Amino acid sequence: MQKLTSTSVYQYCPHCAAALLPALIGGRERRRCPRCGFVFWGKSTVGAGGVLTRGDRVLLVRRAIDPGKGRWTIPGGFVEENERAEDAAARETLEETGLRTEAVSLLAVRDRPGEKDMPHDIYLVFLLAEKGGALRPQPEEVSAAGFFPPVERADMNIAPLSLAAARLALTGAGRGGLPGFRAAEGIDLLSPVARLYC
Ligand SMILES: [Zn+2]
Repeated sequence: MQKLTSTSVYQYCPHCAAALLPALIGGRERRRCPRCGFVFWGKSTVGAGGVLTRGDRVLLVRRAIDPGKGRWTIPGGFVEENERAEDAAARETLEETGLRTEAVSLLAVRDRPGEKDMPHDIYLVFLLAEKGGALRPQPEEVSAAGFFPPVERADMNIAPLSLAAARLALTGAGRGGLPGFRAAEGIDLLSPVARLYC
């Protein structure tokens, strides 16, 4: 089992700027604001990506910006606070590729606990159904887009998570034929503490 490192904490309240004080909450020392009651539960972000297939090919985009500039991935991005993750997957797909889609199912979850100053990062991958639009890469974020077979290619640097999700979408079943998500083995997620449930 990979040991997780501790993460940084806020020193001041993000709402009222008072200095946060240590407080024992839920059996764990946390930081609480003595003025407005804000509790720092930790930092987290939620991302969502979409797998859209045409026959035995999967929609991939080549990222035009860092992180991962030049790498091919499934379309995706951050989920807004007031947005369903599956809607974010469809929104990002539309923004990046011009294709209108709708989520069909949750394919996979990547859980990446925070390290150092990184927030806890949860990424949800949805299977999408095509609903219209025309393939037109959005030049600010994406330098190319197209439908490709989900195989390792010397001329394409495909992100491991995208490759794994694309293969799952095409095989249609979880490993061992069992329903639900389990932690996957042997998939490179670019972090030793990240885990993919599928
Ligand atoms: Zn406060």
